[in-house]
Formats: sequence, structure tokens, C-alpha cells
Amino acid sequence: LLAPDGRIASTIFAEMSALAASTGAINLGQGFPDEAGPDEVLDAARRAISEGVNQYPPGPGMPVLREAVAAHQERFYGLSVDPAEVLVTAGATEALAATVLALVDDGDEVVTLEPFYDAYGGLIALARGRHVTVPLRGHDFLPDHDELRAAVTDRTKVILINNPHNPTGTVLPLETLELIVELAHEHDAVIVTDEVYEHLVFDAPHIPVASLPGARERTVTISSAGKTFSVTGWKIGWIVAPREIVTAILAVKQFLTFVNGAPFQPAVAVGLGLPDSFFDGIASTLRAKRDLLSQGLVKAGFDVSSPRGTYFVVADAAPLGYADARVLCRELPSLAGVVGVPISAFCHEELAGEYASLVRFAFCKKTEVLERAAAQLARLG
Ligand code: PMP
Ligand code: GLN
Repeated sequence: LLAPDGRIASTIFAEMSALAASTGAINLGQGFPDEAGPDEVLDAARRAISEGVNQYPPGPGMPVLREAVAAHQERFYGLSVDPAEVLVTAGATEALAATVLALVDDGDEVVTLEPFYDAYGGLIALARGRHVTVPLRGHDFLPDHDELRAAVTDRTKVILINNPHNPTGTVLPLETLELIVELAHEHDAVIVTDEVYEHLVFDAPHIPVASLPGARERTVTISSAGKTFSVTGWKIGWIVAPREIVTAILAVKQFLTFVNGAPFQPAVAVGLGLPDSFFDGIASTLRAKRDLLSQGLVKAGFDVSSPRGTYFVVADAAPLGYADARVLCRELPSLAGVVGVPISAFCHEELAGEYASLVRFAFCKKTEVLERAAAQLARLG
């Protein structure tokens, strides 16, 4: 967690947003939307504040939100969930933190895909676990099944997946999810699945791993309101898991934040109950933005992998003559007035070389901002 000189290393997102702020470049680095979420959700939060919903909510979360999460799982995935199996957290980040700290003891192995969302590495280190990774390979960023089999052993306590996947935008195929469930059974591991991008999918409906046969009883599903409702600053997340696992996670969570976000909890409950047209709308709006930025990147000379989910696109800078995307990302504000994140920031040192020339760009921005970014990036060509 510390930089080599002993300072606390800042996250890549803080670093890249600071670079965007100091240079005035368009920030396609840190993933957050630049447009407001649905009025129904924003109005519900204002109403809750006016009505006095401003004190500590119950530890496991407000019943209205736990019920809404349960109803959402049934409505979208046919999963029947008891609200007692739902725990509200301070964003998916706290859900991940409390889960990893509850399940992982000194030396226990946690298997993740690589590249991985930065918090995973930090949290596994805080729990003194051992982080074992399975690289995502090829243009489609898919894990090799033999490498996945080899990574999961009896030392594995948790298989922590992120689907759809940040930073690559990959969506795991059904066969890979089935293999993960099989391996979890074989080695008695818990599956922790970070599905914060569940509604940001472009080709096919999202498949939660918990919906696979035999998965429910050993799966912790994590999601949050930030991406779906464009409220990343509200930090309302949740866990869905079997009761005894929820109890273990709550035991940790009570000493992390205790509770959070009272007026935002009923507002997110309203969001989860919005009609299908809202959920279809976010995916189709984002698909158009994905295509707009991807085309701009291709025109600029990048080799682009079209993401199946999330709001991130990966662009290979090798055709532009950049073998090291970190160098390009430092120069990009002056070359093109744009900020992106090198994929190697999501990797361990050992594997970073395999992804050295790749850059992640976020496309959750207004159309005119993406058009401007695409025009500016064309200067690179
Ligand atoms: N997991 C992944 C994969 C993410 O991309 C993010 C946020 N960008 C989070 C977790 C954190 O979510 P939250 O803001 O709800 O804590
Ligand atoms: N999840 C967002 C991203 O990947 C930002 C997270 C953060 O700033 N910690 O860009």
C-alpha cells in the first residue's frame, strides 16, 4: 500500500483526475458520469432530507432498500432473495472491504482476474491474504480455462470476480462462470462477484453468477447505485449473500462505517423500481457513446477492443508507436487534451508488461465531450 519511498501511494484515479484538473484536459480517466441521474431518484433524496431522514439508519440498511434490492434480483434475474440476505454498505467499496476482511485470514488465497480493479489488491493486502491472479488474454480479454483451473486450489478461500469487468469491459461467458462455480465447489471456496456494471451491458443480458445452479449458497453478490443511477458520490452499495455470510460481513461492516447515507437509501430504492425503459435506456445511450469514442480512437490510430459492458474502452497505443502507455498517458494532456489510464495500473508488476501499451478511456461523458475528445485525439494520427 506504500510507495517505495514510504509515502502512501495515491490511487491511479486520484492521480489521473489531478492531472486532468491541472492541465484542463478532458478527463476520460476516472470513471464517473458528467450528467445527472434520473429525476425520480434525485427528487426522492431531496424529499427524504426534507422529511427528516437524516439520522443513523439501521445497521443492515433501511428495510425499504433491502426489500428493493431483493425485488430487483427477482425482477431481473428470477432470483428469490429474502431481504434478510441483503446488507446495505457504503458503496461497493465497503461491500468488498467488509467481505474480504470477513472471509480472508492471514495467508488465505484470493483468486482474481488480472488486470483487476485497484481496490482488490489493496483489500487483499489489508486482510493479509495472498493474491493469485488469472490473466485476461487476447483481444477479447478472456481467461484461459486451464489457467483458471490451475489458480484455484485448496488454499483458495475466495474467488473474486468482476463481471462486467473494469478495466477491460469484458463480460465473462457462461462457460467461464460455470467453471468458476465448479471450482468453488471442488475447493470449497466462496465466490465474491462484483457486479456494479450489471446494467451497463451492450450485447446480451447480464448473467449473475448467483443464478447458476449450485452457486447461491456460496456466492456473495456485490453491486451499487453509483453506475446505474449516475450517483457515484452517494456511495450506496449492497451485498446479497446467504444469511450466515451476511452476518459475518455485518460483524466487520459495523466497525468500518457502522451505517451510511440515510436519505440516499430510500432514493436508491426508488431507482431500483424504475420501469424497464430506464434500464434499457442507460444501456442504449452508453452503447452509442461507446461507438462514438471507439470510432474516434480508431481514427486516431489506436487498436480498439470493443467492450461488451462497463463504460470503459481499451485502446492499444502500440500502432501509434507507444510501447509504454504510461508514457503516452503522461503526454496525452499536452498532445491531445485528454486523460486516460494505463491498464498496467491495474496489474501486478510481474504481469504489467503484457498490458504495457494499453490505455483505458471512460465514455460515460456527454456526447459533445466525447466528440471533442475524439476530434482532439485525431491530432495523434
Ligand atoms: N468495483 C468496481 C469494479 C468499480 O469499478 C467500482 C467503482 N468504479 C467499485 C467497485 C466501487 O464502487 P462504489 O463507488 O460503489 O464504492
Ligand atoms: N471506479 C472508477 C474507475 O474505475 C473510479 C473509482 C475511484 O475513483 N476510486 O474509474
